[in-house]
Amino acid sequence: MSRLISIVNGTIIILILFCCPDSGWPSGKCPETIRLLIGTYGKTFSVDGSRIKINCLDTGVRPVYCSGDTLSVKRNKNGIEINREHFSGQHFRLDSPGTALTIDGTSYGGTVIIDCSSKKEMLLINEIDLEEYLEGLISIELSPRWELAAMKVQAVVARTYALCQKASSKDSPYHLTTSVLHQLYRGIEHATWKTRQAVKETRGEVLTYNGAPIMAVYHSCCGGRTEDAENVWNTDKDRPYLKGVFCGACTGYDKYFWKLTVPRGTFFKKLSQAGYAEEADDESFAASRRSLANRVLEVTIREKSRNRTITSNEFRSLFGFSEMRSTNFIISETGDGYLQFLGTGNGHGVGLCQWGARYRALRGETYRDILLHYYPGTKLEKWY
Ligand SMILES: [Zn+2]
Repeated sequence: MSRLISIVNGTIIILILFCCPDSGWPSGKCPETIRLLIGTYGKTFSVDGSRIKINCLDTGVRPVYCSGDTLSVKRNKNGIEINREHFSGQHFRLDSPGTALTIDGTSYGGTVIIDCSSKKEMLLINEIDLEEYLEGLISIELSPRWELAAMKVQAVVARTYALCQKASSKDSPYHLTTSVLHQLYRGIEHATWKTRQAVKETRGEVLTYNGAPIMAVYHSCCGGRTEDAENVWNTDKDRPYLKGVFCGACTGYDKYFWKLTVPRGTFFKKLSQAGYAEEADDESFAASRRSLANRVLEVTIREKSRNRTITSNEFRSLFGFSEMRSTNFIISETGDGYLQFLGTGNGHGVGLCQWGARYRALRGETYRDILLHYYPGTKLEKWY
């Protein structure tokens, strides 16, 4: 997530995160499909499958079988061209009954929709059974070597997150991307016997609050205590289940501690380019506000004439989310022209701590107990 995990990446996430309805969920709960944006193409792409069917969704004309198992798909004025045969319309569904469709070397279950409604590019959208999606997702979001209990935690969290996003994206051509913006996904080939087992043993289980799937955000490692959502995304909407809790279980992560060293000149140049400093010699800065989880909320840059404040998330984005791995850091000067950031954790720190969940599972806590610890006040319900 990134991974929402390190899923903290600016405005778009904030919008997506907090559009999700917390009530009014329809009563008919049944197995779900999910639509994933798997790529955007300007002109052409290729598809492999077996006896591939194409169906124009605009005209309702009967599906036809394409000639050949490898297709070259090209955008043209009134539709698309497949192996030089023209198909009119804006929306098409490709299906390869019995085998997966492979696009640019990645295999996808379900069907693939080609959306040509934009003048600039074609959207490729994979429509897949939610449980099958989770089987491929788990070993990308976690290591495939992790224990079954930790995978069960991830299965419930990722299912809940996907359903929440689906509810908030009803009018959109897709519900989720396959990048760190939402949840990482690289196709069905990453499913293993263990991920299938984790999905099977938690089938249809969802975390709810007020009768609806929660916004189950998660991250890699909290560094000791998880964070309040409002400290990260500045939302005023009340989601009590996204309040920070004590973790204390993630210290076994081999990158629990991190260090970033930046030349002083480079540091102030970045701040200056972003409009937060003047690159003057007498500038100084300090973490000016911290949360209960000890994360930096704001950094203040002090100059002769004024002080300027930058939020820690913006600050982190200036230096790169993978280099400045969390906002849980202290700052020191090395004395030889360098600044040093010493930190703990990885990611935004809200919701489930994946490494914490792993070590709790290893010491015998059930996946249910782990979920209810990191999302206090929620219920674990069998949705289908
Ligand atoms: Zn933790």
